[in-house]
Amino acid sequence: MINIRTLAALAIVTVSACGAARADSVFAKHEMIAAANPYAAKAGLEILHEGGSAVDAAIAAQMVLTLVEPESSGLGGGAFLVLYDPKTKKVTTFDGRETAPASATSDMFLGPDGKPRPKSQVIPGGLSVGVPGVVAMLEMAHKKYGRLAWAKLFAPAIKLAADGFPVGHKLADTIVEEKDAAQMPDIKHYFYHPDGTPYREGEILKDPALADSLRAIAAHGTEAFYHGAIAAAIVDAVQHAPVNPGGMTLADLANYRAVERDPVCGSYRGNKICSMGPPSSGGIAILQILEMLERFPSSELQPETLSFVHLFAEANRLAFADRAKYLGDPGFVRVPVQGLLDHDYLAGRAKLIDPAHDMGTAQAGTLPNLPFDYAPQRTPQRHGTSHLSVVDKGGEVVSMTTTIESGFGAMVMAKGFLLNNELTDFSLEPTIDGKPVADAPEPGKRPMSAMSPAIVFKPDGQFWIAAGSPGGPVIIPYVAESLSGMIDGGLDPQAATALPHVFNPNAYTMLEQGTSLEELAPKLKAMGHQVVIHSLSSGSQIIQRTKDGYLGGADPRRDGIAIGD
Ligand code: GLU
Repeated sequence: MINIRTLAALAIVTVSACGAARADSVFAKHEMIAAANPYAAKAGLEILHEGGSAVDAAIAAQMVLTLVEPESSGLGGGAFLVLYDPKTKKVTTFDGRETAPASATSDMFLGPDGKPRPKSQVIPGGLSVGVPGVVAMLEMAHKKYGRLAWAKLFAPAIKLAADGFPVGHKLADTIVEEKDAAQMPDIKHYFYHPDGTPYREGEILKDPALADSLRAIAAHGTEAFYHGAIAAAIVDAVQHAPVNPGGMTLADLANYRAVERDPVCGSYRGNKICSMGPPSSGGIAILQILEMLERFPSSELQPETLSFVHLFAEANRLAFADRAKYLGDPGFVRVPVQGLLDHDYLAGRAKLIDPAHDMGTAQAGTLPNLPFDYAPQRTPQRHGTSHLSVVDKGGEVVSMTTTIESGFGAMVMAKGFLLNNELTDFSLEPTIDGKPVADAPEPGKRPMSAMSPAIVFKPDGQFWIAAGSPGGPVIIPYVAESLSGMIDGGLDPQAATALPHVFNPNAYTMLEQGTSLEELAPKLKAMGHQVVIHSLSSGSQIIQRTKDGYLGGADPRRDGIAIGD
């Protein structure tokens, strides 16, 4: 069994063997995957070696992530996949977002006093669980873009689940940090020894129940997940959760559909950027931020400078004000995508940025003829999400962000995997100031997301960058910042993943604790910013095409690697 450190070393050997790496990025000539865990990345690379497509590799990596990074994504969650098809030169997106069951109501998260219950209280159990979408989405993408047989893609994950894997650093940390999760019997049973001690880094964990589920899905696809024994186990876990039992039924599972959607695209300094549209707010928000920043020259947007941090925080404010008002599930609310990305509109919004002073609370903009009500903002939370980027030999590119929402999701398991708590991504309040909220829970609806898997093209149309990150609402600045760092600052992927973070959810300017940005706090305060120093733990995985091949970077805040050949 190869351990995590050997795999990380392998990635570095790949660099020196090819001798063409810049900084700490990993170089590969032909194909590459960057994922948040070395076992997942390695499974993806094995599939690429066997002639698999980028979609095939993403599927194999996702199945392994269910096992090795179970706190962040898996069969019980949802995902967005953005794909570049080099044959048609088109970008498409696959929406595997979880949906609310038919029993969902707009007041499902309110307490007896009519106020929203604290999020920490509504997350564990069955009520917060959305109908999982990742299996349906991956099967849909595989039908169009798969090259290897579906069943073959499950082999690495089945073997690891049956034989066991050494617990990684992040999983071990999360088990210890999420102490309250141990109150939930499934967490206690799977992530703790019988003597009550948690699994530690390097200890071997096996998941035979997951191996069985993976075998069934390998053999029968979505049929085995959305019908039959797995579906029954999901319904049972939700309906009989030890706290907050939910109303999900077999019909909810049988009715789940993934959706192929057009991407949202915009431009930044001549490069085309495509990402996920609604129900994600992420694509629109990163495009808005970057386009507003285009008013300023790259020289004022150099990484880690005062001018960058100030201007970036102001652009965040404006984008988050629009996000709070206009975004929701496009199946339920008419999201004014074109208005929000209109060049003249964004040029007008950019003029609101004062280069010398914080603007204070930004108001959402007025979009002609498209009045909208608003959804509330989120605050940073723990990360139950993962990002992977892949490019195959033929030039197909996948940028996929995958989630179970919070660390350990709803903290209940079915057949060896954790169930998501994605429904707490809805606005817990159905109305604010008497006005209906676009992102309120409704039966069959998809909660608004911030996930922003992105693909960037050079002005000549050639693929250039695949990027994305976990981080709840902070995904938006993480992705926008790494793209600005590469485009304005000329950073390579590894340096871009390591950038110290800044975020303004239209309230305060948050600077990443323990980084160079902390030194900017006094000057930012003098400019009017309310500064908060906080940990901001992204998990970006970035691939960049160069003239010789590809460079890859994996966020140093997580266990991931970029690996290729
Ligand atoms: N569930 C969140 C979303 O879809 C992502 C959570 C995270 O990144 O930890 O926006």
